[in-house]
Formats: sequence, structure tokens, C-alpha cells
Amino acid sequence: MTINTVVWGENIHEHINETVRSIYPDGMHNTIADALNTNPEISATTATLQEPEHGLSQERLDKTDVLVWWGHKDHGAVQDEIVERVAKRVWEGMGLIVLHSGHFSKPFKRLMGTPCALKWREAGERERLWTINPRHPIAAGLPEHFELENEEMYGEQFSVPEPLETVFISWLQGGEVFRSGLTWRSGAGNIFYFRPGHETYPTYHDANVQKVISNSVKWAYNPVGALKSIHDAPNVPVDKALEPIEERGPKLHKAGEAGYR
Ligand code: ZN
Repeated sequence: MTINTVVWGENIHEHINETVRSIYPDGMHNTIADALNTNPEISATTATLQEPEHGLSQERLDKTDVLVWWGHKDHGAVQDEIVERVAKRVWEGMGLIVLHSGHFSKPFKRLMGTPCALKWREAGERERLWTINPRHPIAAGLPEHFELENEEMYGEQFSVPEPLETVFISWLQGGEVFRSGLTWRSGAGNIFYFRPGHETYPTYHDANVQKVISNSVKWAYNPVGALKSIHDAPNVPVDKALEPIEERGPKLHKAGEAGYR
């Protein structure tokens, strides 16, 4: 059993910025996928904004167990139809890992239903991540704290719904703090947001960061398959009630009629 994982990369900065290209000559998505593929339980491929349907056809998403998302410069270029397709697959049970500036990506905002805004500063600050939920599967094998010498600052308030679990919090050199590893359940799908990953720093080459991402893919994986019925809203007829009942009072809908959406 391998976890079919797609690493989605916006794939813009690598082509227009010399610093980003020098750190990630094959693109950030390939660096992340290569790190995931060192784990025998995970089979990772990539998809990018520039491909037809952004590399996320319905057929491909139906076979995807976990989707990893990195975007930044052009969130708006992601077609709404694809966003809806991703959200539906998450509700059916596909895992979603959202990295760094993906906090403003359309799929994440769609699933959170909140602004997903935060404070930020690009000053190469040291980030210290604290593992505050050490028995969580995403924290497996990680130390009590670890450092990234250069990172972008993200500060609270991070306007997301109250998470299911907080796995990491970050201290940044300028004094701000941030909830940097958060989980949610949306429908049947597991969602994890992980903060580090600014494109001008070699964050995705860091062994601890790679471990967090591969742990999160394993955690988000749902082995029992898609819960397609999550989209259904069936009208249960009176004669199919579990206990005998008699219809009473006025009604709007005819028997067997579909409800409004
Ligand atoms: Zn950034």
C-alpha cells in the first residue's frame, strides 16, 4: 500500500527569480516530492498551475489520497472549477496539506471559510518551531524544538477557524509567535497547515521540515476510500421511517421531490 500523493506547485517564482531558481533548480514542488519519495509508504508526483486543469483532472484527483499545496504569487489564476473539485475531494476524504503562503490559496480559504490572514515580514529571521503536541503522528521523530536560520515572519492573528489540534507553534526572531502546525477535519478529509516555506530560503531542503511534511501525508491519508455519499441530501419518505409514523400538518414538498440547494 502506497499513499498516492500529488504535490501541487504554483511554479512561478522558480522561473522569474534568480534566488529561488538557485535554491530550487527543479522547482519547489519537485524538491518536496523527491523528499516524500524517500519514504517507501509514499508515492509522490507533481502538478503545476501551468498544466491543463492545473494538473488536477477529476480522474487524477479521484486517485489522489493526499494533495500538498504550495502557491503564492498568483492564487487568483487557479480556476474556481478546480477549487471546487479539490474541496469536494477533501470532503470525500482526500487529505490536504497546505504549505506556507498557501494560507491565501483558494482551496484553503474555501475550506476554512474565513479570511486566513496573518501578519508578515520578509527579514530572514530565525524561526524556532516548538513541538507542543509530541505524541501527535505529525510530530513523530521530531525534537522538542528545531530552528530554521532564515524564514519569513508570520504573526498572529491567523484568522482561521479554531483548529482541531495544534502540533507546532513558532517563535520568530522579531518577537512574534504563530500557530505553525494546525489540523482540521472537513467532511471526511484531514487538513494540515504548516507554516515554513518562504521561497527565497532553503526551507524545503531541511530534514526536520521534510519529516513534518511526510508525517503529515501519512496522518492525512484515509485508507477506507472516498465517502461519496457526503454530498447526498436524501428525502426519507414517511413509509421508510424506522418507526411507524403518521404524516401530520401542512407540507411544502411533494413525495419524492428533491430538496433545494
Ligand atoms: Zn513567503
